[in-house]
Amino acid sequence: MLSKEQEEQRKEMLNKIDDMVRKGQVVPLQDKFPEDCVITCMAIEDDDYKKINEWWALEANKSYPREVFCSECKRQVMMSNAVFKMYQETEKKPKVVCGKCLNKKLSTV
Ligand SMILES: [Zn+2]
Repeated sequence: MLSKEQEEQRKEMLNKIDDMVRKGQVVPLQDKFPEDCVITCMAIEDDDYKKINEWWALEANKSYPREVFCSECKRQVMMSNAVFKMYQETEKKPKVVCGKCLNKKLSTV
């Protein structure tokens, strides 16, 4: 069960994602990855994935540590069940970047 505060955070995050989709900054997941896409994941030591998973109702959206590593800092990342399944089925693996490295890149642009 989410606390009232967590429920607020969840709503806020979903609104942000909606906003990014509307602006075309984020593409909703189709049945395969677009050419040259970059997947952003959380590095496992950055966050408690069990807590994050409470936010998602669907099992497909829940994330777990995978044998996948950030292309920048080489730390292991978590990936949702849906994305990881596609990742495994994709021959030409998309680039993976953890949230911290992405933030670093964005703040230097
Ligand atoms: Zn990284």
